Amino acid sequence: LSTKTTASLDASKLKLNLTSSPKALPPADKLVFGKTFSNHMLIVDWTAEAGWGIPEIKPYGPFSMDPSSCVLHYAFECFEGQKAFRDASGNIRLFRPEKNMERLNKSADRICLPTFDIEQGVKLIEEFVKVEKDFVPQEKGYSLYLRPSIIGTQNSLGVSPPNSARLFVIASPVGPYYATGFKAVRLEATDSAVRAWPGGVGNRKLGANYAPCVKPQLDAAKRGFQQNLWLFEGYLTEVGTMNLFLVFQNADGKKELTTAPLDGTILEGITRLSILELARERLDPKEWDVTERKVHINEVMERAKKGELIEMFGAGTAAVVSPVKELNYHGEAIEVPLPKGKEAGPVTETVSKWISDIQYGIDDHPFCKVI
Ligand code: PMP
Repeated sequence: LSTKTTASLDASKLKLNLTSSPKALPPADKLVFGKTFSNHMLIVDWTAEAGWGIPEIKPYGPFSMDPSSCVLHYAFECFEGQKAFRDASGNIRLFRPEKNMERLNKSADRICLPTFDIEQGVKLIEEFVKVEKDFVPQEKGYSLYLRPSIIGTQNSLGVSPPNSARLFVIASPVGPYYATGFKAVRLEATDSAVRAWPGGVGNRKLGANYAPCVKPQLDAAKRGFQQNLWLFEGYLTEVGTMNLFLVFQNADGKKELTTAPLDGTILEGITRLSILELARERLDPKEWDVTERKVHINEVMERAKKGELIEMFGAGTAAVVSPVKELNYHGEAIEVPLPKGKEAGPVTETVSKWISDIQYGIDDHPFCKVI
């Protein structure tokens, strides 16, 4: 019987190897999502034999890996997307980083990559952002997008649990999704391709889930739609890489804010969770039902005709919310009404403000931690 224990992830062991030639943060108007990177990256290697190694922050740069690395063949890869924000006093805030670390662990576990202690993961993210603090833009609406990833690095063409892996974090300063205010989008409902299914892995943030979604998205774009909406057996699941919310006016006078349930066919979005939590706390339950339920495309069509569909929006880290003005299904347009001269309805606007006020410290809410 082996008594050997492997090392846990330990942020206190972090080693700094900083660049001697740091670049400056480019001017705000030059930032393109995911194209500019900060000066450093965080790396922690893992082996089945020894466990997690010494975390290191080192100059940003390419990795060298064997062409037989399992990530390159069998997609042993999972990732996160989260942001650091600068508030009006210059403090840096992370939005619910423990939720991202929790989700990264769930993703890693699903594909036999190593998991880690969530608190240690959050500490490492904090240390990394502190090193890269000059890359957290000052301007409102801007942020430093963080991309933690875990890859399997075993050199073998055998399909098996990787015996070595790498956790790394890179950072990209980003501008507001809507530089000139909201722009409502037109969606096409996709049922010729399926993003996720019960028992599948659509609820995990695996790289393997993303590449197959680009072609259907491109097809929708060719027909003039900015995003596609993924249906599963006619039920609305997600929009592009965002969770979807609908607002209905019920016949009994009450309104409903609803989103798809966590049944394994949608990503467990942190923006989704935050919107649900805030809505349940802040909307008057006498006037509102806040629900997680399956909504069929036929229900949307019927209720839109009756004037009961009042708002629709996507929700995710990239844009916070993305208002929808039309959903096209098999060539038929379902219109979502917008207030005259506006690109978003009142619920979409309110929810967006709730989240962004927390992110920028206007609302000093426990979702955000000053680091
Ligand atoms: N669905 C998918 C498929 C996504 O990639 C994302 C972005 N992570 C989301 C939903 C929204 O999740 P979050 O609010 O955590 O960004």
